[in-house]
Amino acid sequence: MDAGFLRSLTIDAVRQGLLRKEFRAVELAEAMLRFAQAEDARTRAYLHFCPERAFSAARRVDEKIARGEDPGPLAGVPVAVKDVILTKGVRTTCASRLLANYIPPYDATAVVRLEEAGGVILGKTNCDEFAMGSSTENSAFGPTRNPVDPERVPGGSSGGSAAAVAQGTAVVALGSDTGGSIRQPASFCGISGVTPTYGRVSRYGLVAFASSLDHIGPFGKTVRDNAILLRVIAGRDERDSTSAFAPVPDYPALLDGDVRGVKIGLPREYFKGLASETGDLILRAVDLLRKLGCEVFDISLPTTDYAIACYYIICTAEASSNLARYDGVRYTTRNFEADTLVEMYRRTRGEGFGAECKRRIILGTYVLSAGYYDAYYLKAQKVRALIARDFAEAFQKVDAIITPVSPFPAFKLGEKIDDPLEMYLSDIYTITGSLAGIPCMSVPCGRTASGLPVGMQILARHFDEAGMLRLADAFERAGGTAGA
Ligand code: GLN
Repeated sequence: MDAGFLRSLTIDAVRQGLLRKEFRAVELAEAMLRFAQAEDARTRAYLHFCPERAFSAARRVDEKIARGEDPGPLAGVPVAVKDVILTKGVRTTCASRLLANYIPPYDATAVVRLEEAGGVILGKTNCDEFAMGSSTENSAFGPTRNPVDPERVPGGSSGGSAAAVAQGTAVVALGSDTGGSIRQPASFCGISGVTPTYGRVSRYGLVAFASSLDHIGPFGKTVRDNAILLRVIAGRDERDSTSAFAPVPDYPALLDGDVRGVKIGLPREYFKGLASETGDLILRAVDLLRKLGCEVFDISLPTTDYAIACYYIICTAEASSNLARYDGVRYTTRNFEADTLVEMYRRTRGEGFGAECKRRIILGTYVLSAGYYDAYYLKAQKVRALIARDFAEAFQKVDAIITPVSPFPAFKLGEKIDDPLEMYLSDIYTITGSLAGIPCMSVPCGRTASGLPVGMQILARHFDEAGMLRLADAFERAGGTAGA
């Protein structure tokens, strides 16, 4: 199995290869692990591999096929998992020094479901520490590089998962998205990624950053791969009380390429001041959708301007509370030199957390403190409700909303790391959908003159992943992902 073959694989191709006995799942896992280790020298998409777990999953698939049983919708598919998602017996670090040696005692529900479906987890991918960031440069273990251009970041925080899929060292991957961490890296690396409706996929076993915003979602080279993986991981889970009871449609079966009559809204707030190359690519993509029979409307989402401020108050507030558990008593790292308990907390956390986590803990503690709670946190919650209302009103007129994913394509390593505000602006177009809890995704729509991928964002009504995926798939079938 050469690199070209491994890079080209989709879920369907793996399935066909296995059922036609062209290769066994164990052979594929072996070849993919070797390839991934070699590529990782260049990109560092993975933090660590779990070959034993991969081989035992692959063996189960081979045995099922030998017995003539259905090996499952992800049979033998090599999967990468972001290192904020718990894997029993396999180190899960959240790219933090604090959890450098943490071995979880249980699996996340999404992980259980993907292995039951025949998926083969190869390893855990790099990310920003506790998923805080937009470039994967906040990892305590060094950054990931964009496979398209190793001088550039892959986006973040799920940069490792996006890079693994883009370089073909995993067929699909799991990421997490709180304010754009699936869509933005998908866009920077030239692949597709989905942030499902809040509650669609269980958060059980996802290490919490901002619980009211955290999502697990898929990455894939194709929209169809995203649809297959999403169907496997979605659905009610008793272990997450916020997971929804809504039935899960057969997403891949609904991808029929027909989008005639679909009403698309273009929110004018998202197109003003947009770098022209990105803007042009999105507008050309919209023209293609028009040709496919969609109707396009100019719409307004007036509270967009408040989204960044609102998001960075709510997410830091929740983060300050969620990260309080890393106190040196539970979990891995502790400072043993301190003489008193308070000193031990102070030094453990002071040495363990990176700069971005500290910044957010401090900011979050501030906005929740007495006297400031009403002025910041409560106000932000009210603004969040207004942002959600903007979307609800827009979705009375249109079926889907299209925007850019990011104002700019992948930037250079080091370019924004010293300027947190500049970094936060990477998320200007993705955080509104997260705050509203609606499904959103990134699908490639071409490249800039210098060859950097650009993603188009599609947002849809709550629980209408099917409509969103169908639109993205029709666009992909019409050749739009290569540039309309
Ligand atoms: N980049 C955003 C942040 O830093 C989003 C991160 C995420 O979605 N996990 O918070």
